[in-house]
Amino acid sequence: MVLWSVLPLLLTGSGEAEPGQDTPVARHGPLRVEKGAVVGRHGRPVSLAGPSLFWSQWMPQFYNRRCIDWIARDWRAGIVRAAVAVEPNGYLENPEREWRKLEAVADAAIANGIYVIVDWHDHRAHEHAEQAVGFFQRVARKYGDKPNVIYEIYNEPVRVPWSGVIKPYSERVVRAIREIDPDNLIVIGTPSWSQDVEVAAADPVQGRNLVYALHFYAGTHKGWLRDKAEKALASGSALMVTEWGTTLASGDGPVDRASTEEWLAWMRSKRLSWCNWSIADKRESSAMLQPGAHPEGGWKDSDLTESGRYVRDLIRSWGY
Ligand code: MG
Repeated sequence: MVLWSVLPLLLTGSGEAEPGQDTPVARHGPLRVEKGAVVGRHGRPVSLAGPSLFWSQWMPQFYNRRCIDWIARDWRAGIVRAAVAVEPNGYLENPEREWRKLEAVADAAIANGIYVIVDWHDHRAHEHAEQAVGFFQRVARKYGDKPNVIYEIYNEPVRVPWSGVIKPYSERVVRAIREIDPDNLIVIGTPSWSQDVEVAAADPVQGRNLVYALHFYAGTHKGWLRDKAEKALASGSALMVTEWGTTLASGDGPVDRASTEEWLAWMRSKRLSWCNWSIADKRESSAMLQPGAHPEGGWKDSDLTESGRYVRDLIRSWGY
């Protein structure tokens, strides 16, 4: 009797999702692509909201269990993105150090019943294809049987061609993941900082449960970018907004609420999932935390920036 009355408290206290608890992953299960939409096990579209962590080599302090517990419980996020830094001074040079950060975040997301995007945070991934293959096979072996985990194989290609460069890279990494994990979602980066989604959609990678990355910064990117995304959706491709900001594309400048509201209404209408950039205490306006914010969450309003307070409210009200 004593045990059973205490057990839920112990579980709650340690951050474990209780059996039967209504978490995002308990509700939707493994995600898949059906008719150009990301759906759950019930077959209905799933739209999740949460934050992206910042480059792991520059904001390592937020890659910890308690930070993710806080984001899951206080922010009610359905998803979080781990931006595993590739270079400089990232996974290429320090694979074990960066791997441990990823594990801390992925294990915490699983414990909380939320989804986690494992992002190869690289602007030149096609030059590191072999390392990307090694990394994602490692992720697939450890996490490929977990419904929580989503692979993002190329954060933001810069100005490189889709069909000749990014697509062959993507095919190689997708094939490597699928040797181990047949089904979890794979997000594929698109040219011009993951904006040219219609170009990828016109010449898509073949395979199951593949999604294209759409990134935007509300102060810079407006309706013209949504028009490109509409084209991609119209041609039957699924999209995820794995990174967006309330500011200019530089990550700084004013918080553009009017443009953000237009983007949010659009993402809501398309049932897209999103991660906001970023959990960081850097002095730039897209960072959600004030300089020196505690790395393990517990943040009060005064610990959040203008964008942080705004986006926390957006995440809490998005639902899952
Ligand atoms: Mg799987």
